[in-house]
Amino acid sequence: MEAIQVLKGMRDLLPEQTAWWQRMERELAGVLDRFGYQELRTPLLEPTALFKRSIGEATDIVEKEMYTFQDLDGSSVTLRPEGTASAVRAYLENFTWKKEPISRWYYLGTMFRHEKPQKGRYRMFSQVGAELLGAAEPAADVELIDLAVECVRAVGLSEATLELNSLGCPACRPAYRERLVAYLRVQRSALCEPCQRRLETNPLRVLDCKVEGCQKVAEEAPRILDFLGPECLSHLEAVRAGLESMGHAYRLNHRMVRGLDYYSRTTFELLTGGLGAQSAVAGGGRYDGLVAQLGGPEIPAVGFAAGLDRILLRLAELREPPQGPPIIFVASQGEAGWRAALPLVQRLRRAGHKVLSDVRAGSLKAQLKRADKDRARLVLVLGEEEIQAGAVSVKDMAAPEGAQDKQVRCALADLDRLLGEKLGGVK
Ligand code: ATP
Ligand code: MG
Repeated sequence: MEAIQVLKGMRDLLPEQTAWWQRMERELAGVLDRFGYQELRTPLLEPTALFKRSIGEATDIVEKEMYTFQDLDGSSVTLRPEGTASAVRAYLENFTWKKEPISRWYYLGTMFRHEKPQKGRYRMFSQVGAELLGAAEPAADVELIDLAVECVRAVGLSEATLELNSLGCPACRPAYRERLVAYLRVQRSALCEPCQRRLETNPLRVLDCKVEGCQKVAEEAPRILDFLGPECLSHLEAVRAGLESMGHAYRLNHRMVRGLDYYSRTTFELLTGGLGAQSAVAGGGRYDGLVAQLGGPEIPAVGFAAGLDRILLRLAELREPPQGPPIIFVASQGEAGWRAALPLVQRLRRAGHKVLSDVRAGSLKAQLKRADKDRARLVLVLGEEEIQAGAVSVKDMAAPEGAQDKQVRCALADLDRLLGEKLGGVK
């Protein structure tokens, strides 16, 4: 019978990979907590209308990337392709805006997009994201961008570079859009086929098309930054000043429009090397209209999301693999040794140590080999002699061969002290 395989664009993360993930998730949770952001967990499955209404009908995500299907009751449901729409839904559904003027939320979890799989691009992937709801001030944008930078830095990607843009607001964007469309119409034949369509449905997206011909056209296109009204302009200036006073270097990129419809004013991305076309590790911006668009009051907000799979791909080239706590291996001889080992193993684990032992009935020699394979730091041996003496032999795997303290006999009552000495209190 043919073996069943994982779906295209989806992956198993085996233990040597999850160790990297767990370390990264711990580091991220630390940064987010230090900034005062609290975790939100929302369902993976949402009504399709949520994404259509928030992300926008004429976006890549909604047009062709959503896992949408009919639920058993006939309703249309979608596996979430991003986190902001769900966060805003939860914010409204739980009346959070009535309870607090400012909300700082983060989420970390799986997203689904039906894309062409390639390096750093999967159909099931993970993002960490943060949302700051309730503030229109540039200080909020600065906090969010700083948070995104610190998240990426804390996990070890200090090389990431920051790009910044402003998409204006509903007051200044239409004039820009009109000029852009007029320009693009003239250049129409130089655009790829999807961009010729986008020209009518979502012309700003032409600016960040990856096709070479379109990029040439985009480079010469009218710039949104030249069309910003006075308020959008001073907002952008204040964001820039804030970033500069924190020492964040950035590049203004008038072509960075982001893939989702809900952005206004500030947009930004963090880019890194080594990932080819998949160089964006994080992106975000201000979305002042979204809360109202989803049926709520006019509440301004700003957010970002970072792609954890991409970050890890790059980190594997830059960082040492994570190291777990020191391992204590308990080896025993015979039935009596095994029975004496059990309470010892239990006691040590309850005291916070990482303790392994062999569950197969093997010789002492086989167990020592196993301990070596498992990279044990210490091996505790419970042989007949040791049991008789109420003691245990402690073999220090890190000590050089022949060293005096390579193997010592220790009374069980004295074991905690010896472990403390050997491991320097690290558990
Ligand atoms: P791209 O231009 O690379 O398609 P995007 O604009 O669609 O990115 P966002 O919706 O802004 O991406 O998501 C934020 C981050 O999530 C991206 O910067 C990227 O790191 C990550 N990401 C997006 N799509 C995928 C995917 N299919 N596989 C892995 N990571 C992804
Ligand atoms: Mg995309």
